[in-house]
Amino acid sequence: MNCRSVKEAVFLFTDDEMEEEVLVSFREHLALCPSCEKYIRQKAVVLTQIRRCRRAAAPERLRLRILTSLPHRR
Ligand SMILES: [Zn+2]
Repeated sequence: MNCRSVKEAVFLFTDDEMEEEVLVSFREHLALCPSCEKYIRQKAVVLTQIRRCRRAAAPERLRLRILTSLPHRR
């Protein structure tokens, strides 16, 4: 893996959607490349927080949608 493909794959990494094979070369690259390691670490923190927020917000949004859709059903 090169620096570019590592940076492009950060989304797969944080979503746990990376294939085992890719994950191995991904981690290998990070071990050898401090600039990518730093980039991925920063991105991973941000993306993980976004993902947590989305997960937490989903039930609330669904509840609101159900509540707001009720009065229209006549
Ligand atoms: Zn790199």
